[in-house]
Amino acid sequence: MKVSLIPEKCIACGLCQTYSDVFDYHDDGIVKFAHTDELRQELPDDANTLLAVKSCPTKALIID
Ligand code: SF4
Repeated sequence: MKVSLIPEKCIACGLCQTYSDVFDYHDDGIVKFAHTDELRQELPDDANTLLAVKSCPTKALIID
């Protein structure tokens, strides 16, 4: 699945990484992917990643 980040919508709550370690944070707490600074990544289908995306309170994470 393709996952996109919208950093402008991220409120640095820290929730997504509690579900999936594909998510990490910049020093200011804004979301990034763990192993790249790109904003869109093809990731294996994974229930925890899906849960992280669905749980983001501001919809800063999108599956497309
Ligand atoms: S759950 Fe959403 S708002 Fe919270 S840190 Fe992750 S991307 Fe940002």
